[in-house]
Amino acid sequence: MKPLERLQAKLAEDGLEALLVTDIANVRWLTGFTGSAGTVVAAPDRACFFTDGRYTIQAGEQVGPLMEVRTTTTEAPLAAQVAELAGQWGLSSIAFDGDAVTVNTYRQWTEKIPGVELKPVQDPCAVLRMVKTPEEVAKIRDACRLTDAAFQHVLRLIQPGVAEYDIHLEIEFFLKRQGAELAFDPIVVSGARSALPHGKASEKKLEIGDFVTMDFGAKLDGWCADLTRTVAVGRADDRMREVYGQVLEAQRAAIDALRDGANGKDVDTLAREVLARKDLARYFTHGLGHGLGTVVHDHGRLSQTADMRIECGQVWTVEPGVYIEGFGGVRIEDDVWVTEDRPVILNEAPKELLILP
Ligand code: ZN
Ligand code: ZN
Repeated sequence: MKPLERLQAKLAEDGLEALLVTDIANVRWLTGFTGSAGTVVAAPDRACFFTDGRYTIQAGEQVGPLMEVRTTTTEAPLAAQVAELAGQWGLSSIAFDGDAVTVNTYRQWTEKIPGVELKPVQDPCAVLRMVKTPEEVAKIRDACRLTDAAFQHVLRLIQPGVAEYDIHLEIEFFLKRQGAELAFDPIVVSGARSALPHGKASEKKLEIGDFVTMDFGAKLDGWCADLTRTVAVGRADDRMREVYGQVLEAQRAAIDALRDGANGKDVDTLAREVLARKDLARYFTHGLGHGLGTVVHDHGRLSQTADMRIECGQVWTVEPGVYIEGFGGVRIEDDVWVTEDRPVILNEAPKELLILP
């Protein structure tokens, strides 16, 4: 089923007359529209797309075959046109994603769309988007392949004297040169700075005995990859090997537990238990993973606060980490597709501890 059909079935199931979709990632998922301004009003049996004059032609091509396209203008802005549509379709209520709309926009709508109840709901697209079609998974896999290639490419830079920022730039250059965007600003941290889970690349130069953590991903044809690897410069002492080995063991155990019907909180707990065997759980200061899709931190979390059922077709990152102030940190992250059979790791970058050059 196409995304629009899946959403329409869900609207019917939830008893919603219509949904106003404003989040641009949801709009793209629903329609294939790649512009920056678009809104969909979807009802169980029809849908209408709104954009402004900059995108009329593009929307006609990308969205036209799927649903009616209307252009908003200063004289007839979105709210006025939605009010008109509500009249034409005989709608008494329209739902919207309460997380995506500001209080001011909501106030404006209540004023400009009179006689229609505006209902904030939990975004119905988010849950649907979590389950990917095989075609969507293939696109994430393509993004993962390119990300793997970028990793292989920058390995040659790992040597004493090279700045974190040089590695960051090289990753960016490589991905963009291959026609991709960055899924997010890459993280490159080394030595004691590798204890910063989301540290920014700096002018610090790599030194013998440093851990270097690189976290980055390509966004290719709208789909994201998200990969983290930690490598060592020149040598790794026993403590570094112990920490690395335990993070890897936790990651492998968690990936293996990503099965249909599992619970995201339990998988997170499992990773913490493996780390606890070496008294490292207290240094694991973030959630185990997140949903991955057209945005890098997509809906869904694997964490102690997320009581969430794992289902076939979902794609998750699994990224345990240990961050010890003054010592450094290790994070290993893969993108994992949940299938009926077994969890499938979509990226192929090696995971044993690399000591470079
Ligand atoms: Zn990442
Ligand atoms: Zn991630």
